[in-house]
Amino acid sequence: MHSSDNTLAGAAFLECTATGATFESEQLIGLSPAGKPLFARYDLDALRKRFTPAAVAHRAPTLWRYEEVLPVRDRACQVSLGEGLTPLLESSRLARAVGVKRLWIKDEGQNPTGSFKDRGLCMAVSRAFELGARELAIPSAGNAAGSTAAYGAAAGLPVHVVVPMDTPVAILAEIRALGADLQLLDGLISDCGRVVRQRCDEDGWWDLSTLKEPYRVEGKKTMGYELFEQLGGRLPDAIVYPTGGGTGLIGMWKAFAEMEELGWIGAERPRMFSVQATGCAPMARAWQEGWEEAGMWEDAATYAAGLRVPGAVGDFLILRALRESGGGAVAVTDHAMEEWVGTMGAATGIFGAPEGGATAAAVPRLRDMGLIQREDEVVLFNTGSGLKYVGMEPVGTGVRRDGPR
Ligand SMILES: *Cc1c(COP(=O)(O)O)cnc(C)c1O
Repeated sequence: MHSSDNTLAGAAFLECTATGATFESEQLIGLSPAGKPLFARYDLDALRKRFTPAAVAHRAPTLWRYEEVLPVRDRACQVSLGEGLTPLLESSRLARAVGVKRLWIKDEGQNPTGSFKDRGLCMAVSRAFELGARELAIPSAGNAAGSTAAYGAAAGLPVHVVVPMDTPVAILAEIRALGADLQLLDGLISDCGRVVRQRCDEDGWWDLSTLKEPYRVEGKKTMGYELFEQLGGRLPDAIVYPTGGGTGLIGMWKAFAEMEELGWIGAERPRMFSVQATGCAPMARAWQEGWEEAGMWEDAATYAAGLRVPGAVGDFLILRALRESGGGAVAVTDHAMEEWVGTMGAATGIFGAPEGGATAAAVPRLRDMGLIQREDEVVLFNTGSGLKYVGMEPVGTGVRRDGPR
């Protein structure tokens, strides 16, 4: 049916991140039987000679340039809106403001729907389409729902989203405009997840929740490959990443391991830092306490919608990457995020999301803690555009909004 030059090898198999058990990759599959995330594994040995930085260098500027290490086999199923290969922008003024030698911002706000959720949902929707899913569903704190609506529309698949009532209005307008079925819930993303789960069981919707299917993390890992390419063939000393479900951090960590197996890099790794909101900081708490799992955060509250994730199914993978990399985790207030969105904007011209502001706010803290040094070369992830949060107010600064937390 497919001509051979439209077909890729895809993944060789899937592997449970907790038990190491392996599974056939060409099936619609969620969590492993152990209830843990599955990782796609590739025949990297076979790719070593062909899939090189030089081979990739002149390809189209989307994340599909890394197609050999992505799971979609049929190129006709690569749904694309121009996601990935976002600018990596150096700022000497912001570097000075946070107290490091060199600093770059990976501006993920320049993805098609204004957030890096596009990377994960581009991959998960493409793969669900390829494997025959008929209706897609997602619980979201906001941006993931916008991305799913966009890629579902592009693929021609119906999308159902369940989001908290106090999701940013720009995102609600986007979801409606993209034709998705929208359900608002008086609760948090974890409550939305329960509703989606039930409808998936009853009505055959395909669940695209973070790390509950194997492919969002594959889309997000492309950020790791891009850093290497955009820095001219090396990685930074430190990566500061606003962490909710942790897909991006887990994905980049996976990418670095693949890049070593491919011979792109050696054993060196950037130190990985998670930034969270003081109103929802399960990873920062677990890292401080030396726990291997994070547990649930009670009464999660922050206007950084992407960080309002009280419990993450990949918590042990996030904490493992922080530990193995010599990094760490820190929480900042909503007020600090808002202030640093302004500092970052005035120093760089990037109107960042609160989550992006959080990464800048974290660096002086990490300097004080001795975890980042002045000589370090640091990459901050501005994971979304500030435009999606217009009208939202910081939580915990005296101007608490009415309505559900
Ligand atoms: C979802 C989201 C995050 C958190 O990303 P994870 O990879 O799930 O940890 C950060 N920032 C923004 C803008 C988001 O939408």
